Order: sequence, then C-alpha cells, then structure tokens
Amino acid sequence: MPGFEIFGQEEREQVGDVLETGVLFRYGFDGARNGHWKAKTFETELAQRLGVSYAHLCASGTAALGTAMAACGVGAGDEVIVPPFTFVATVEAVLMAGAVPVFAEIDETLCLAPEAVEAALTPATKAVIPVHMCGSMARIDELKQLCDRKGLILLEDACQSVGATYQGDALGSFGKAGCFSFDPVKTITCGEGGAVITNDKDIYLAADAYADHGHDHIGTDRGAEDHLIIGTNYRISELNAAVGLAQLRKLDWILDTQRHNKALIKDAMTGAPGIEFRQLPDPAGDSATFLTFFMPDLDKARQAVAALSAAGVDGCFHWFDNNWHYIRKWNHFHSLKASARLAVQALPNSPDYSRIHLPQSDAIMQRTISMQIKLGWTPEQLEERAKTTAKVLQDI
Ligand SMILES: *Cc1c(COP(=O)(O)O)cnc(C)c1O
Repeated sequence: MPGFEIFGQEEREQVGDVLETGVLFRYGFDGARNGHWKAKTFETELAQRLGVSYAHLCASGTAALGTAMAACGVGAGDEVIVPPFTFVATVEAVLMAGAVPVFAEIDETLCLAPEAVEAALTPATKAVIPVHMCGSMARIDELKQLCDRKGLILLEDACQSVGATYQGDALGSFGKAGCFSFDPVKTITCGEGGAVITNDKDIYLAADAYADHGHDHIGTDRGAEDHLIIGTNYRISELNAAVGLAQLRKLDWILDTQRHNKALIKDAMTGAPGIEFRQLPDPAGDSATFLTFFMPDLDKARQAVAALSAAGVDGCFHWFDNNWHYIRKWNHFHSLKASARLAVQALPNSPDYSRIHLPQSDAIMQRTISMQIKLGWTPEQLEERAKTTAKVLQDI
C-alpha cells in the first residue's frame, strides 16, 4: 500500500501552493488563499472517483471512523460487530465512541463472515463494521443484506482498500458510511489523513459538523456559525490535504501497477503444492496491495515466511505471529489496559476481552501469509521475486 513510494514533483507542487499563501486552515481566509482549497478539492475529486455523493476529509483514518460512527448515531453502550483481523484502530474508534466492540469470526476472505455476524447479534447490536483488509473485499453484498434485514447500520472500514470495488461499486460505498485512511503506509497518503464517504446527505452534514466542533459551515464568518451538534476537532490541514490531492490523481496508475505486479507473482506461485489463495468475492475489484495466500498449516506458514525472508523476498507478513493486525497479540487490549477508565468499563454489557475465543479465525490466520506488492519493482526484480517465491514455496 505504498503511497510513500511515489512522493514526487506533483506532491511538492501542491504543497508549494499552500506554502506560498501560508493559509494552512481548510476553512475561511477566502481572500488570502489565492483560490487554493486543497481539502475541499480533494473531497470533490474523491467523491467523484469513488462514485459517491459526499466525502469529508479528516485528520486520520481513526478520526474518520470516529466521525462516521458519530454521524451514524453509534454511541454509548451500543454494540458494534468488528473482526479480529484488522488494524487495532477500528477497535479503538469503537471504544472512544463509548460503544462496545463485539468480535465475530472471519472467513477465508479474511473479513467478517456474514454467518458469524448473525450469530453475534444481540438486542444491543447497533452497527457492523466489516474491514476490507489488505486491499480486498469482504462478502459485502451479503453483509449489506444482513444489516438491511436486521435494521443495523453498516459502516465500512475501507482504510486499506481505496480504489477497490465489488461488482463495480467502490468499497466504502455500500454502507451508510465508509472510511479511508491516508496515513503514510496506505495506498495513497496525505502524510496523515482519512476520509468518510457517504451517499446520505444527513450523514455527510453530521460528519462535516462533528469533525469541526459542530460548525455548520454556512456563510463566511466562522465566529457567527451555528453549532449543529457537539463535536470535536478531527480536521485535516491544507498541507496534508495538498499531498493527498497529488496522490489521489495517481490512484489509477497505482492500481494498474499493483494489479500487474501481483498477477505476475500469483501466476508463478499457482500450482505450488499445498498453496491456496485468499478468497476474493470479486477478483476484478481487488486493489492488489497484497498477495495473500494460505499454507497448509501453522508450521509450514512459519517455515515459509522464514525461508522467503532468507531468500531475500522481503515484505511477507505472517499476521498470526506479529502483533500488528490480529487480536491474538493485542495484550494491552485483552486486559483493557488504558490510561484512564473507559466508557465500556462502566457498562453492564462490557465483555471480558481476555477470554475471547475465535477458533475459526485462529485456524485461518495461522495459515495466512501476505506479501506486500510494491510499485517500484523493476521488471527484473519482479521476475526474480516471482521465481524465488515459487521455488521457496515449492521446496516447502
Ligand atoms: C490504517 C488503518 C486505520 C487507521 O488509519 P489511521 O489513518 O492510521 O488512523 C483503520 N483501520 C484500518 C483497517 C487501517 O488499516
């Protein structure tokens, strides 16, 4: 997901526009800003590119998730179904909203299994947050049907999957709202940034207000604006938005390159005994930031990452054993180790997170390896990588 690989002249020029005027604030200063509205322009272009009515840019993906939950009316005591394979920010955002993260199993899409979500529902369930992990999609149509049938809010964490689609529609556009991250290791980056997208005008207006202390953003006198709701400050600066704007305009090239590079390595691996690939509900919509495959068992997966690394094939992750994306190693979370008491700890339905048992997810994650797909590989490096990967896996 390497937006960081392609920081170049375009980004410098966009940032230069902002530095020239010195207007770092995304609102107001109409006269001084010399016509540059980086955050606003990014929002217009992102919404257009993803085929939705509205986008609101935030300070981070985590801020976007918090904003989306607030805008959708998810708050104190509400149960929110989340997957155990995600970046921990998804769970943090639920906790910060005063809501209760409830974990359901993933399936071989590496995203929430609709059956498992249904089994985890209680009368307190308010929302479901599928996370489209590693550039590809959940069974989002089934999850949407389930949420519609049960009257639940579907909120997509598409932080890792900008530009990916399901049956032609952008991931993030299926739910009441969808969230993206533009942090330094995502597909495109603002340095730090995130966005909420939606087709619902009321959700957009609530997000726009929530992320800026409730301001209604009507008129040109900020001091005289009305406050629609209680909010917070999750704003992005014009400098960050400027970087992101340049990156967004490279998104199609990024996706083409990733898809090309991934296909070459995947082809070389196909046929290696015992290797299976991650299930993709719509292969054509994969953004191809990662090539994810399953080894026959935990031992073989451990052998494979070690052997790949020894053979110089870097960027392969065995999530089960690292502490980044899978709940197993989130020790601080298991004991809800916080700097201060959390809202969830004052609730009667507060789960005991030290006892979470997700055997299906464990079994899948034990076997899962993801290889990061880079943009900067030369054709020779790519060929070498494909050959070496296939050989290493063949030998195991
Ligand atoms: C990166 C990420 C986030 C958080 O985004 P930040 O911009 O780093 O706050 C949330 N969810 C997932 C799945 C992510 O990968």
